[in-house]
Amino acid sequence: MQQPKKIIDMHTHIFTLKYLPVYGAIKSYVPKVPDNTAKAIEKIFLYITRSSFLNNTKQEEYPFFEVEKNELEFDFLLEQDDNTIISTFVDSLHDDLLNVIFSDKYIQKAILEVEDDEVDKQYMNQIQYDEKSEVIKWYLLKRKLKKLLNIVLKGFYFFKWFLFMTKSEKSIYTKLVKRYSNTTKFVFHMLDGYEAFNDTIYTKGNPTYYKIEEQIQRMKKMVELNPNLIGFLPFNPFRDNSLKLIDKYIGFEGFKGVKFYPSFGYKPYDRENISLKVNKSIIELYDFCLNKNIPILTHCTPDGFQSQPYGENNSGKNCNPKYWEELLSIPKYNRLKICLGHAGGVDGWFDEFDETSDEVFIGTTLSNGEVVYPYAKKVYELCVNYPNVYCEVGFLSHIYHENPNKIKNYIKRLTYIFKQEENEDIKDYKFSDKIMFGTDWHILYNHGIQDNYDKKYIEIFNKNEYLKKHIDKFFYKNAEKFLDIKL
Ligand SMILES: [Zn+2]
Repeated sequence: MQQPKKIIDMHTHIFTLKYLPVYGAIKSYVPKVPDNTAKAIEKIFLYITRSSFLNNTKQEEYPFFEVEKNELEFDFLLEQDDNTIISTFVDSLHDDLLNVIFSDKYIQKAILEVEDDEVDKQYMNQIQYDEKSEVIKWYLLKRKLKKLLNIVLKGFYFFKWFLFMTKSEKSIYTKLVKRYSNTTKFVFHMLDGYEAFNDTIYTKGNPTYYKIEEQIQRMKKMVELNPNLIGFLPFNPFRDNSLKLIDKYIGFEGFKGVKFYPSFGYKPYDRENISLKVNKSIIELYDFCLNKNIPILTHCTPDGFQSQPYGENNSGKNCNPKYWEELLSIPKYNRLKICLGHAGGVDGWFDEFDETSDEVFIGTTLSNGEVVYPYAKKVYELCVNYPNVYCEVGFLSHIYHENPNKIKNYIKRLTYIFKQEENEDIKDYKFSDKIMFGTDWHILYNHGIQDNYDKKYIEIFNKNEYLKKHIDKFFYKNAEKFLDIKL
C-alpha cells in the first residue's frame, strides 16, 4: 500500500467545553428543558471540565473526573448507552467535586424539581431515623443527579462529544497526536458562538467560560508548546471586535487562517441584506483576508453544530455553497482563498453513480418541477472554476458506512473526476489540486468514528492508479498551497 510522504490534517479541534456556549447549545437542541435546568446542566459540565496549566509542565488543574485517568476506560465509556454513561460518570465523581456541585444554587434547584419516585421516598424516610443518614443522603443526592442528567441529556444530540470535551486542552491534544501519530501537522479551528444562540433570562449573548480573547491566548500557548499545531482564528460577525481580534493575533506565526461558521446564523454573502451590520462585518473580513492573503475555512454542510437546528429557520442552510458562488462571482472577490469544509457533506458524494451519464452529481426533482442538487455539486464546481477555492473531507461519516456500496460510489466518483481531468482541458482548475485531507476530530467522538480516519483514506487512495497518483497532493501538497507553507 502506498503511503503519503506527509500528512496535514486540515480540520481538527482541540477546544474544551469551556470554549463553547454550553447553555445555548442545550437550549437549542433540547428546547423543552426549562431554563434553570439547562443552566444547572451547564454548571455541572463546566465544573467537571478540566483546564490545562499552560505555563508549566503540570498536566491538569482540575483532576476531579477519575474515569479519565484510564484513557481506554474513558473511550470504552463513550461507547456505552446513555444510561450507563451517566451512571458511571456520576459514580466516578470525586466527593470534593460533588460537594461543589451540590452547593450550587442552580443545581440544587434543578435537583429539587426532579420528581421523587418510591425509592427516593424510602431513602428520605430512612434519613429521618437512621444514624447513617449522611451516607444515605449522599446516595440519594447522587441518585437524583443521575435522574436529572438522564432527563436532559438523553435527548441531547451532542452528549458524547460534550462529555469528551470535559478533558483539558493538553489531554485532548495528547490524545489527538497519539491516535494520529502519522500526521505531520494538525490544523485546528476555533468557534465563537457568542450571540449566536437564543437569549433567555439566564444569559446575555450566551457567553463561554473563557472569554474569547482568553480562548485565543490559551490556544496560542498550545501552539507555542506544540509546533505541529496550526491554528485558525474564529470569526464572529455578531461581535463588534471580531476582526480586530483576528488582526491582533494573525501576526503570530502559529495562526494561519480564519474559521467561518455560517451554522451560527449568518450567510457567507447575503445580497438582499448587504447593508445590515452583520453583513458589512463579513465583507470587511473578506477585504482583510484578500489584502493579507489569509485563507478562510468555512463549514460547508447543512448538518453539524447549528445555533438553530430545527425547522424552517435551521441555520445549517446558511452553509449552502451557492452563497459563496454569489460572492466569488464578484470580480473583486474571485481570488479569495476559501476551503469548503466537509466538501459539502455526505449527500452527493456517496450516492449512486452512473459513469455513462454526463452528471457527476444526481439531483432530486421536487413536486414543482425544480431540480435540487446536494451541496457537493456546487463545491466541486467552485473548486474547478475559481483559482483559490479548495475543499476538505472531514466528517464524511459514510466512509465507515456498513453498506459497502456507499464507499464504492465515492471511489467511483472521485476516480471519474480525476480520470476526466487527465483528458480534458475544459476545466480551469483541477479538483485533484484542490481536495484536501481533514478529519474533524474531536466531534467524531459523538459518532464513535474517531479512529483510523487517515487509514480509511489511505485505503481509498490506493484503490486504483488514478487515485494513487494524487495521494501526496490529497494528504499534504494541496494543503501546503492553501496554507502557504512548506513542510
Ligand atoms: Zn469541525
